[in-house]
Amino acid sequence: MKPSSFDYYRPDNLEEALAALAEHGSDGKVLAGGQSLVPMLNMRLSAPACLIDINGLTELNYLRWSEGWLHIGALTRQRVLELDPHVRQRFPLLAEALPWIGHVQTRNRGTVGGSVVHADPTAELPLCLQALAGVAVLTSAQGQREVPLDSFFLTYMTTDLGPDELLTEVKVPIPATHQGWAFVEFSQRRGDFALVDVACLLQTDHHGRMTDVRLLVGGVDGVPLPLAEAEQLLTGECWGASLQAELQQLVAASVEPEADVHGSAEYKRHLAGVMACRAVQQAYRRAQDRRGVACNT
Ligand SMILES: Cc1cc2nc3c(=O)[nH]c(=O)nc-3n(C[C@H](O)[C@H](O)[C@H](O)COP(=O)(O)OP(=O)(O)OC[C@H]3O[C@@H](n4cnc5c(N)ncnc54)[C@H](O)[C@@H]3O)c2cc1C
Repeated sequence: MKPSSFDYYRPDNLEEALAALAEHGSDGKVLAGGQSLVPMLNMRLSAPACLIDINGLTELNYLRWSEGWLHIGALTRQRVLELDPHVRQRFPLLAEALPWIGHVQTRNRGTVGGSVVHADPTAELPLCLQALAGVAVLTSAQGQREVPLDSFFLTYMTTDLGPDELLTEVKVPIPATHQGWAFVEFSQRRGDFALVDVACLLQTDHHGRMTDVRLLVGGVDGVPLPLAEAEQLLTGECWGASLQAELQQLVAASVEPEADVHGSAEYKRHLAGVMACRAVQQAYRRAQDRRGVACNT
Protein backbone atom coordinates (compact mmCIF):
# COMPACT_ATOMS: atom_id res chain seq x y z
CA MET A 1 0.00 0.00 0.00
CA LYS A 2 0.97 3.63 -0.30
CA PRO A 3 0.52 6.37 2.28
CA SER A 4 -2.22 8.95 1.98
CA SER A 5 -0.94 12.34 0.85
CA PHE A 6 0.75 14.64 3.34
CA ASP A 7 2.71 17.87 3.41
CA TYR A 8 6.41 17.41 4.06
CA TYR A 9 8.41 19.84 6.15
CA ARG A 10 12.11 19.54 6.99
CA PRO A 11 13.17 22.10 9.62
CA ASP A 12 16.85 22.99 9.86
CA ASN A 13 16.94 23.49 13.60
CA LEU A 14 15.06 22.85 16.85
CA GLU A 15 13.38 26.24 16.89
CA GLU A 16 11.85 25.66 13.45
CA ALA A 17 10.78 22.15 14.39
CA LEU A 18 9.03 23.37 17.56
CA ALA A 19 7.30 26.14 15.61
CA ALA A 20 6.05 23.55 13.09
CA LEU A 21 4.78 21.32 15.90
CA ALA A 22 3.03 24.29 17.54
CA GLU A 23 1.39 25.12 14.21
CA HIS A 24 0.26 21.62 13.20
CA GLY A 25 -0.41 20.03 16.62
CA SER A 26 -1.98 16.58 16.32
CA ASP A 27 -2.22 16.97 12.48
CA GLY A 28 1.58 16.82 12.35
CA LYS A 29 3.78 13.77 12.84
CA VAL A 30 7.50 13.74 13.57
CA LEU A 31 9.64 11.62 11.24
CA ALA A 32 12.90 10.38 12.79
CA GLY A 33 14.42 7.09 11.55
CA GLY A 34 11.15 6.13 9.87
CA GLN A 35 11.55 2.46 10.83
CA SER A 36 8.16 2.33 12.55
CA LEU A 37 6.40 5.37 11.14
CA VAL A 38 6.93 4.66 7.43
CA PRO A 39 5.41 1.14 7.59
CA MET A 40 2.50 2.64 9.55
CA LEU A 41 2.05 5.33 6.88
CA ASN A 42 2.18 2.71 4.13
CA MET A 43 -0.46 0.62 5.89
CA ARG A 44 -2.45 3.80 6.57
CA LEU A 45 -2.46 3.07 10.28
CA SER A 46 -1.23 6.65 10.53
CA ALA A 47 -2.37 9.40 8.17
CA PRO A 48 -0.95 12.76 9.32
CA ALA A 49 -1.66 15.91 7.32
CA CYS A 50 1.97 16.99 7.72
CA LEU A 51 5.24 15.14 8.24
CA ILE A 52 7.90 17.04 10.19
CA ASP A 53 11.24 15.43 9.33
CA ILE A 54 13.71 16.06 12.18
CA ASN A 55 16.71 14.42 10.50
CA GLY A 56 18.25 17.87 9.87
CA LEU A 57 18.37 18.61 13.63
CA THR A 58 22.00 17.66 14.17
CA GLU A 59 21.84 19.28 17.63
CA LEU A 60 19.75 16.28 18.78
CA ASN A 61 22.40 13.75 17.76
CA TYR A 62 24.75 13.35 20.74
CA LEU A 63 25.91 11.28 23.68
CA ARG A 64 27.06 13.51 26.55
CA TRP A 65 28.37 12.56 29.99
CA SER A 66 27.91 15.01 32.82
CA GLU A 67 27.39 15.07 36.60
CA GLY A 68 26.36 11.46 37.00
CA TRP A 69 24.15 11.32 33.90
CA LEU A 70 24.38 10.04 30.37
CA HIS A 71 22.45 12.37 28.06
CA ILE A 72 21.25 10.72 24.86
CA GLY A 73 20.06 13.10 22.15
CA ALA A 74 16.76 11.88 20.69
CA LEU A 75 18.18 11.62 17.17
CA THR A 76 21.04 9.33 18.24
CA ARG A 77 20.87 6.22 16.06
CA GLN A 78 20.40 2.97 17.93
CA ARG A 79 23.55 1.57 16.31
CA VAL A 80 25.64 4.48 17.63
CA LEU A 81 24.49 3.71 21.18
CA GLU A 82 25.19 0.02 20.62
CA LEU A 83 28.79 0.59 19.47
CA ASP A 84 29.85 3.34 21.87
CA PRO A 85 32.63 1.90 24.07
CA HIS A 86 31.74 4.05 27.11
CA VAL A 87 28.09 3.02 26.91
CA ARG A 88 29.16 -0.63 26.69
CA GLN A 89 31.30 -0.21 29.78
CA ARG A 90 28.95 1.87 31.96
CA PHE A 91 25.62 0.54 30.69
CA PRO A 92 26.16 -3.15 29.90
CA LEU A 93 22.37 -3.63 30.13
CA LEU A 94 21.95 -1.43 27.04
CA ALA A 95 24.86 -3.13 25.29
CA GLU A 96 23.20 -6.51 25.88
CA ALA A 97 19.75 -5.39 24.72
CA LEU A 98 20.55 -3.27 21.65
CA PRO A 99 21.62 -6.11 19.31
CA TRP A 100 18.13 -7.62 19.84
CA ILE A 101 16.43 -4.63 18.19
CA GLY A 102 15.52 -5.57 14.64
CA HIS A 103 18.59 -5.75 12.40
CA VAL A 104 21.80 -3.78 11.88
CA GLN A 105 20.11 -2.01 8.98
CA THR A 106 17.12 -0.90 11.10
CA ARG A 107 19.40 0.15 13.97
CA ASN A 108 21.49 2.24 11.57
CA ARG A 109 18.40 4.35 10.85
CA GLY A 110 16.22 3.88 13.94
CA THR A 111 16.72 6.47 16.66
CA VAL A 112 16.64 6.21 20.43
CA GLY A 113 13.96 8.89 20.59
CA GLY A 114 11.82 7.18 17.95
CA SER A 115 11.84 3.90 19.84
CA VAL A 116 10.93 5.60 23.12
CA VAL A 117 8.06 7.64 21.61
CA HIS A 118 6.80 4.71 19.53
CA ALA A 119 6.45 2.89 22.88
CA ASP A 120 5.90 -0.61 21.62
CA PRO A 121 5.35 -2.63 24.82
CA THR A 122 7.76 -5.33 23.63
CA ALA A 123 10.51 -2.88 22.58
CA GLU A 124 13.92 -3.36 24.12
CA LEU A 125 14.97 0.27 24.57
CA PRO A 126 11.93 1.59 26.47
CA LEU A 127 12.16 -1.43 28.80
CA CYS A 128 15.87 -1.03 29.53
CA LEU A 129 15.88 2.76 29.73
CA GLN A 130 12.99 2.57 32.22
CA ALA A 131 14.84 -0.11 34.20
CA LEU A 132 17.79 2.30 34.34
CA ALA A 133 15.51 5.04 35.77
CA GLY A 134 15.75 7.09 32.58
CA VAL A 135 14.05 10.46 32.19
CA ALA A 136 12.41 11.84 29.03
CA VAL A 137 13.21 15.46 28.22
CA LEU A 138 10.27 16.99 26.33
CA THR A 139 10.57 20.35 24.59
CA SER A 140 7.92 22.59 23.07
CA ALA A 141 7.81 26.24 22.01
CA GLN A 142 6.51 26.89 25.56
CA GLY A 143 9.55 25.39 27.31
CA GLN A 144 10.90 22.11 28.60
CA ARG A 145 9.79 19.46 31.08
CA GLU A 146 11.27 16.22 32.33
CA VAL A 147 9.20 13.08 32.84
CA PRO A 148 10.59 9.89 34.42
CA LEU A 149 10.06 6.98 32.03
CA ASP A 150 8.23 5.23 34.90
CA SER A 151 5.34 7.61 34.20
CA PHE A 152 6.04 8.50 30.53
CA PHE A 153 4.59 5.29 29.07
CA LEU A 154 0.82 5.41 29.52
CA THR A 155 -0.50 2.44 27.60
CA TYR A 156 0.04 0.52 24.36
CA MET A 157 2.01 2.86 22.02
CA THR A 158 0.84 5.90 23.98
CA THR A 159 3.00 8.26 25.99
CA ASP A 160 2.73 11.47 27.95
CA LEU A 161 4.16 13.44 24.97
CA GLY A 162 1.93 16.39 24.02
CA PRO A 163 1.05 17.09 20.35
CA ASP A 164 3.26 20.20 20.32
CA GLU A 165 6.19 18.51 22.09
CA LEU A 166 9.34 16.91 20.79
CA LEU A 167 11.29 14.33 22.75
CA THR A 168 14.70 15.99 22.66
CA GLU A 169 16.69 13.80 25.03
CA VAL A 170 16.60 10.75 27.25
CA LYS A 171 18.91 11.05 30.25
CA VAL A 172 19.98 8.13 32.36
CA PRO A 173 21.72 8.17 35.77
CA ILE A 174 25.08 6.42 35.64
CA PRO A 175 24.69 3.27 37.77
CA ALA A 176 26.84 2.18 40.71
CA THR A 177 29.88 0.17 39.71
CA HIS A 178 28.89 -3.07 41.49
CA GLN A 179 25.61 -3.52 39.66
CA GLY A 180 24.69 -6.87 38.11
CA TRP A 181 22.61 -6.72 34.95
CA ALA A 182 20.77 -8.94 32.50
CA PHE A 183 18.57 -8.53 29.47
CA VAL A 184 16.86 -11.66 28.18
CA GLU A 185 14.41 -12.01 25.33
CA PHE A 186 12.27 -14.66 23.75
CA SER A 187 11.35 -14.07 20.10
CA GLN A 188 10.48 -16.50 17.34
CA ARG A 189 13.48 -15.55 15.19
CA ARG A 190 16.44 -13.29 15.85
CA GLY A 191 15.44 -9.76 14.76
CA ASP A 192 11.74 -10.36 15.37
CA PHE A 193 9.87 -8.35 17.97
CA ALA A 194 10.01 -9.96 21.41
CA LEU A 195 7.18 -12.09 22.73
CA VAL A 196 8.52 -11.43 26.20
CA ASP A 197 11.66 -9.61 27.30
CA VAL A 198 13.02 -8.90 30.76
CA ALA A 199 15.52 -6.39 32.15
CA CYS A 200 17.10 -6.87 35.56
CA LEU A 201 19.51 -4.78 37.60
CA LEU A 202 20.60 -5.57 41.13
CA GLN A 203 23.42 -5.33 43.60
CA THR A 204 24.58 -7.80 46.22
CA ASP A 205 26.01 -7.11 49.66
CA HIS A 206 29.06 -8.89 51.07
CA HIS A 207 26.85 -11.83 52.21
CA GLY A 208 25.53 -12.29 48.65
CA ARG A 209 22.11 -10.84 49.51
CA MET A 210 20.33 -8.88 46.83
CA THR A 211 19.73 -5.15 47.16
CA ASP A 212 18.44 -2.42 44.83
CA VAL A 213 16.61 -4.94 42.67
CA ARG A 214 15.00 -3.62 39.50
CA LEU A 215 12.99 -6.13 37.45
CA LEU A 216 10.82 -5.19 34.47
CA VAL A 217 9.07 -7.31 31.89
CA GLY A 218 7.95 -6.34 28.39
CA GLY A 219 5.29 -7.89 26.15
CA VAL A 220 2.78 -8.75 28.88
CA ASP A 221 1.11 -5.36 29.32
CA GLY A 222 0.58 -2.10 27.42
CA VAL A 223 3.79 -0.69 28.92
CA PRO A 224 7.06 -2.08 30.28
CA LEU A 225 5.90 -3.56 33.57
CA PRO A 226 7.91 -3.11 36.79
CA LEU A 227 7.50 -6.22 38.96
CA ALA A 228 7.38 -4.57 42.39
CA GLU A 229 6.29 -7.66 44.33
CA ALA A 230 9.03 -9.74 42.77
CA GLU A 231 11.59 -7.04 43.58
CA GLN A 232 10.42 -7.18 47.19
CA LEU A 233 10.62 -10.97 47.25
CA LEU A 234 14.25 -10.90 46.07
CA THR A 235 15.49 -8.06 48.25
CA GLY A 236 17.62 -9.30 51.15
CA GLU A 237 17.79 -12.86 49.75
CA CYS A 238 20.56 -14.95 48.18
CA TRP A 239 19.70 -16.53 44.84
CA GLY A 240 18.96 -20.26 44.98
CA ALA A 241 16.61 -23.01 43.77
CA SER A 242 13.71 -22.41 46.16
CA LEU A 243 13.74 -18.65 45.56
CA GLN A 244 13.78 -19.33 41.82
CA ALA A 245 10.65 -21.50 42.07
CA GLU A 246 8.92 -18.86 44.16
CA LEU A 247 9.90 -16.07 41.75
CA GLN A 248 8.70 -17.96 38.69
CA GLN A 249 5.32 -18.55 40.28
CA LEU A 250 4.98 -14.98 41.53
CA VAL A 251 5.86 -13.40 38.18
CA ALA A 252 3.53 -15.69 36.24
CA ALA A 253 0.73 -14.78 38.65
CA SER A 254 1.48 -11.02 38.49
CA VAL A 255 1.10 -10.53 34.73
CA GLU A 256 -2.03 -10.41 32.55
CA PRO A 257 -0.77 -10.81 28.97
CA GLU A 258 -3.09 -10.79 25.99
CA ALA A 259 -3.20 -13.68 23.59
CA ASP A 260 -2.18 -12.96 19.97
CA VAL A 261 -1.12 -14.90 16.89
CA HIS A 262 2.25 -15.63 18.51
CA GLY A 263 1.01 -17.24 21.69
CA SER A 264 -1.78 -17.72 24.21
CA ALA A 265 -2.01 -15.65 27.38
CA GLU A 266 -1.08 -18.76 29.38
CA TYR A 267 2.03 -19.35 27.27
CA LYS A 268 3.21 -15.75 27.70
CA ARG A 269 2.53 -15.89 31.43
CA HIS A 270 4.71 -18.99 31.66
CA LEU A 271 7.40 -17.31 29.54
CA ALA A 272 7.40 -14.26 31.78
CA GLY A 273 8.08 -16.42 34.86
CA VAL A 274 10.84 -18.41 33.18
CA MET A 275 12.52 -15.37 31.59
CA ALA A 276 12.40 -13.39 34.83
CA CYS A 277 14.24 -16.22 36.60
CA ARG A 278 16.88 -16.38 33.86
CA ALA A 279 17.40 -12.63 34.06
CA VAL A 280 17.73 -12.56 37.86
CA GLN A 281 20.10 -15.52 37.87
CA GLN A 282 22.33 -13.89 35.28
CA ALA A 283 22.26 -10.49 36.98
CA TYR A 284 23.00 -12.12 40.34
CA ARG A 285 26.02 -13.98 38.97
CA ARG A 286 27.36 -10.81 37.43
CA ALA A 287 26.84 -8.80 40.61
CA GLN A 288 28.71 -11.48 42.56
CA ASP A 289 31.51 -11.67 39.98
CA ARG A 290 31.93 -7.92 40.13
CA ARG A 291 32.22 -8.06 43.91
CA GLY A 292 34.63 -10.97 43.64
CA VAL A 293 32.37 -13.00 45.96
CA ALA A 294 31.95 -16.73 45.36
CA CYS A 295 28.53 -17.49 43.95
CA ASN A 296 26.61 -20.66 44.86
CA THR A 297 24.33 -20.87 41.80
C1 LIG B 1 12.26 -4.99 10.16
C2 LIG B 1 12.13 -4.22 11.44
C3 LIG B 1 12.34 -4.89 12.64
C4 LIG B 1 12.24 -4.18 13.85
N1 LIG B 1 12.44 -4.86 15.01
C5 LIG B 1 12.35 -4.19 16.18
C6 LIG B 1 12.59 -4.85 17.43
O1 LIG B 1 12.89 -6.04 17.48
N2 LIG B 1 12.49 -4.11 18.55
C7 LIG B 1 12.15 -2.76 18.55
O2 LIG B 1 12.09 -2.14 19.60
N3 LIG B 1 11.94 -2.13 17.39
C8 LIG B 1 12.03 -2.80 16.22
N4 LIG B 1 11.80 -2.12 15.06
C9 LIG B 1 11.41 -0.68 15.13
C10 LIG B 1 12.65 0.20 15.25
O3 LIG B 1 13.30 -0.01 16.48
C11 LIG B 1 12.34 1.69 15.15
O4 LIG B 1 13.57 2.29 14.93
C12 LIG B 1 11.74 2.42 16.32
O5 LIG B 1 10.57 1.78 16.77
C13 LIG B 1 11.32 3.84 15.94
O6 LIG B 1 12.43 4.66 15.75
P1 LIG B 1 12.56 5.60 14.48
O7 LIG B 1 13.66 6.53 14.73
O8 LIG B 1 12.62 4.76 13.26
O9 LIG B 1 11.19 6.43 14.59
P2 LIG B 1 10.08 6.76 13.50
O10 LIG B 1 9.61 5.51 12.83
O11 LIG B 1 10.52 7.86 12.63
O12 LIG B 1 8.94 7.31 14.49
C14 LIG B 1 8.28 6.45 15.39
C15 LIG B 1 7.25 7.28 16.18
O13 LIG B 1 7.91 8.16 17.08
C16 LIG B 1 7.61 9.54 16.79
N5 LIG B 1 8.87 10.24 17.01
C17 LIG B 1 10.10 9.86 16.59
N6 LIG B 1 11.05 10.65 17.11
C18 LIG B 1 10.41 11.55 17.88
C19 LIG B 1 10.86 12.64 18.70
N7 LIG B 1 12.15 12.91 18.86
N8 LIG B 1 9.93 13.38 19.37
C20 LIG B 1 8.60 13.10 19.22
N9 LIG B 1 8.13 12.08 18.48
C21 LIG B 1 9.03 11.31 17.82
C22 LIG B 1 7.10 9.54 15.36
O14 LIG B 1 6.23 10.62 15.13
C23 LIG B 1 6.39 8.19 15.32
O15 LIG B 1 5.13 8.30 15.93
C24 LIG B 1 11.90 -2.78 13.84
C25 LIG B 1 11.71 -2.12 12.63
C26 LIG B 1 11.82 -2.82 11.44
C27 LIG B 1 11.58 -2.09 10.15
